[in-house]
Amino acid sequence: MACTCEKCGAVFIGDETCDDRFNMLQAKELEVPEYFVVHHLSVPCFMLQHNRYSRTGWIDAYHLLAQFIQDGLKLEAARQMLQNSFNSKRDSSITKGEKLLGVEDVKWRVTIADVKHNTAQEYCDSITTWAKAIIEDAAALEGTGYFSEAELRETRRAILSLQSKSEKASSKLNADTWQYRMMTDNVKACGIALALIDGTSAVAIEHTTLNEAFAVLSDALRRAEAVIGKFAEGTSQHTLQRNRIAALKVALTLIKKEMAGL
Ligand SMILES: [Zn+2]
Repeated sequence: MACTCEKCGAVFIGDETCDDRFNMLQAKELEVPEYFVVHHLSVPCFMLQHNRYSRTGWIDAYHLLAQFIQDGLKLEAARQMLQNSFNSKRDSSITKGEKLLGVEDVKWRVTIADVKHNTAQEYCDSITTWAKAIIEDAAALEGTGYFSEAELRETRRAILSLQSKSEKASSKLNADTWQYRMMTDNVKACGIALALIDGTSAVAIEHTTLNEAFAVLSDALRRAEAVIGKFAEGTSQHTLQRNRIAALKVALTLIKKEMAGL
């Protein structure tokens, strides 16, 4: 008898479940180092499809997976980032709490039932294929505007603050320096983000402009993630960076959504 997983749509012959298969593959990873090299992909793939993360955990894991796959993010950098993001919200567990809506409606083209595991090479290729498909399949979900009003309000505030700080900084810099360019790019990119948050742009923003804003704010996010660990929790600098990181993630999602025409 065939069993279909209600969460991801995987079909198994017999009474095996996705959890059974996942546990079996995880055991294999722990046993054979050549299988373990894709551990940072296999776990989020399974957790994302089965909506096991909290809402924010889901979004974070999805972005991280996309960075691994699309930007070739290195493991060491990711560990640092994860460490920072966990530090910055120690009270909010990555799995507990409100779930992201709409995950159940995504039509997943690849599931854990499709993962081949006869050889390590086959397994690694298969997991990568799975991860790529997840990024694509959930792209539409990402663009459904799942941010709450409160979140958008917070985002707006943090982006405005980044914009005015950058503006102030640029006025003190020599126009020939890269720092000046970075600050003026920040001001412009924040303006794009604010237009998207408010929905005030009467005409469609050009693709190249969105692309530039995306690159600039991605850099700003990386910088914020790199420095937050230097501040003690509870200090104003820590709170500032934490709010900025959250806001930049929302802004980047809004830009991506706009680029996808959603
Ligand atoms: Zn499943």
